[in-house]
Amino acid sequence: MTTLLERLKAIAGPGGWSTDPADLEPHLTEWRGIYTGRTLARLMPRSTAEVSAIVTACAEENVAIVPQGGNTSLCGGAVPDDTGTQVILSLGRMNRVRNVDALNFSMEVDAGCILAHAQEAAKQAGRYLPLSIGAEGTCQVGGNISTNAGGMNVGRYGTARALVLGLEVVLADGTVLNSLRSLRKDTAGYDLKQLFIGSEGTLGIITAASLRLFPDPGELSTALLGIDNAGKAVDLLGNLKVALDDRIESFELVSQRVFGLVTRFIADASLPFQVEYPWYVLIETATGGDAEVLENALAAAAESGLLIDAVIAKNERESAELWRLRHSISDAERQDGKALKHDISVPLSRMQEFLARGDDLLADLRADAKLVAFGHVGDGNLHYNVVLPRDLPDQEWAAEGERVSRGIYDLVQELGGSFSAEHGVGRSKRAWLREYRGGPELELMQKLKKTLDPSNILNPGKVI
Ligand code: FAD
Ligand code: ZN
Repeated sequence: MTTLLERLKAIAGPGGWSTDPADLEPHLTEWRGIYTGRTLARLMPRSTAEVSAIVTACAEENVAIVPQGGNTSLCGGAVPDDTGTQVILSLGRMNRVRNVDALNFSMEVDAGCILAHAQEAAKQAGRYLPLSIGAEGTCQVGGNISTNAGGMNVGRYGTARALVLGLEVVLADGTVLNSLRSLRKDTAGYDLKQLFIGSEGTLGIITAASLRLFPDPGELSTALLGIDNAGKAVDLLGNLKVALDDRIESFELVSQRVFGLVTRFIADASLPFQVEYPWYVLIETATGGDAEVLENALAAAAESGLLIDAVIAKNERESAELWRLRHSISDAERQDGKALKHDISVPLSRMQEFLARGDDLLADLRADAKLVAFGHVGDGNLHYNVVLPRDLPDQEWAAEGERVSRGIYDLVQELGGSFSAEHGVGRSKRAWLREYRGGPELELMQKLKKTLDPSNILNPGKVI
């Protein structure tokens, strides 16, 4: 009798599977190193038909599948558990840009296409794929859609969800669902693709996507601003949105403590200011290369007391240096060691209240905790991370961590926000999902899961 493994190897073909520990190792540990698992095999199909055959075989044998893109996600969703019975389904060999339709402002890509490659292909056609995140050289479009990735310019273009026009998905029984349309208007029944966006591989395997493109915004102007308190960033954003006619591509808030980690851990990283400011904003605008427009808007904002200092990049190299500071934050944080991560969001109009009450709350909960905050303020989304004293014993760390996180999430909930705004739920936030989305919302999620994946073989143990 052929074993499942032999059957899977035959489907994936030579070069399409691996059980070699050295090859598997990077696929068994998540990016931060917090979750590690084992696997029966890693499968690397080249086509939707192969994905469908693999899923069909696994469904027949009731073997769980963990879809994996670039494995850059930050909540333990892309790695298998430690039973060694789950298979990893890597989409990386399905990496074609199927087409760019310049006239329709859309492109069709395989799910395993690296985000930076998709951006480049759009650019070659004179179009712009706005999704941009620090991991864009490694993460894949399928992973981005499965996590509903946000990133640097959500304020202007929305999250991955807003960019998806159509999807091709392999369902839990191997059926290929083809809703790969590239329409902006379509009212024919339920919008099924929405189910799979942000579902972290628990409802289906995305094999291709049709993405919305935009006109190339042209030359961008980048500046780093020094400001004296985080709350002002929200006023500053409102002011600049009006002054710059909504041409703000990115608006990132970073505390001095966070950039302190970057200059400490990242080679050759330094801030372009002579003195330190408590907070910084990295802003990028689509002002057609006319830096004066940005300069004038910033000068007016400075006069109103909304910012203290500003450095405008004079060329692409200087702009890249400013962005390198921002993109190095995750790496610097990782080198600094463990922290409580909260990627939260609140309505923009409650952001100042959140920041002010958050300060008091932390002082109250644990005066010796350090706040490491940065994020995409334009989207009401903050990485509100907290470092507990390094000498806390592990057990105490866990209990204290839960107490502090709960305090922060309660405040977020009270302000109408979300405990999970960017990285997803994965393995690490399942308990919080039960707590903050319990009741009818969670029950409907469970019903959907049961309907679409009755045997629970798609990324079990993640999200719900
Ligand atoms: P993976 O990590 O491989 O998978 C993510 C989840 O999706 C898993 O649950 C997996 O099972 C599932 N999955 C993957 N591919 C498929 C598929 N084809 N079909 C079905 N399910 C699938 N995230 C942001 O949102 N904004 C940021 O600004 C941001 N910055 C980052 C910066 C750095 C330096 C790093 C390391 C990460 C950052 N992230 C950010 C997190 C991460 O990059 C995103 O979550 C990204 O979208 C994950 O893509 P991936 O291909 O690596 O997916
Ligand atoms: Zn982020």
